[in-house]
Amino acid sequence: MEKIVVANLKMNLNLEQIKLYINEIDGLIDSNRVIICPSYIYIPYFLNKNYLVGTQNIASTEDGAYTGEVSASQVSSMNIPYTIVGHSERRSIFNETSVEVNKKVKLALSNNLKVILCIGETKEEKDNGLTNSVLSLQLKESLLEIDNNLLENVIIAYEPVWSIGTGNIPTNEDIIEITNYIKSTVNNIYNSLVNIPVLYGGSVNEKNIFQLNEINEIDGVLVGGASLSSSKLNIIKEVVIK
Ligand code: PEP
Repeated sequence: MEKIVVANLKMNLNLEQIKLYINEIDGLIDSNRVIICPSYIYIPYFLNKNYLVGTQNIASTEDGAYTGEVSASQVSSMNIPYTIVGHSERRSIFNETSVEVNKKVKLALSNNLKVILCIGETKEEKDNGLTNSVLSLQLKESLLEIDNNLLENVIIAYEPVWSIGTGNIPTNEDIIEITNYIKSTVNNIYNSLVNIPVLYGGSVNEKNIFQLNEINEIDGVLVGGASLSSSKLNIIKEVVIK
């Protein structure tokens, strides 16, 4: 797979800033390997462009009386191709469990959305040597009862929680080892060679992207903070246009 860049804008930018953002990227980005994930309300401004769009989350239930939520079928009806699911901020701040993550993955796939499934260990888990067991549990629980033939619509984003927003990133060797572990865990779960795409996410910036982009094992990057600044263009240039 050719490498992709996912930009997670989180709960940032107001309307005026969103318009400036779009002006900045329009004309410069012409690739379906760039996926921008703004807040729901701004998504219509990002549709029908020369890049793709995704939501940062979806509801774990179908349409109905769930005030404030947005369903997978609603996202799909807007022709939005992607959704992030299971971001660590959802898990830690909103107490999202792997059971809910699994429901979201199922709803997304049954509504023809492509899923960017985030997994990652905390600093404490890493320090206690639990990285692999945490990742394999998150994968098993999130992918529970998901059919093999739907997996082509799932991308895993390996995002160590201790790296997100901190400026600290794992070594290339660690990313390679963990990416291989994730791929082999998915193969084991499905008892077949799935070759699921794996992105790296966590403090990616315009400086470390050169080093990260040398890793053949990863299929791209998920960018948070740096996707808000002009750094995003340099990152996209390095990963997608190069
Ligand atoms: C993220 O929140 O998914 C992320 C990768 O953030 P940052 O790039 O700011 O670490």
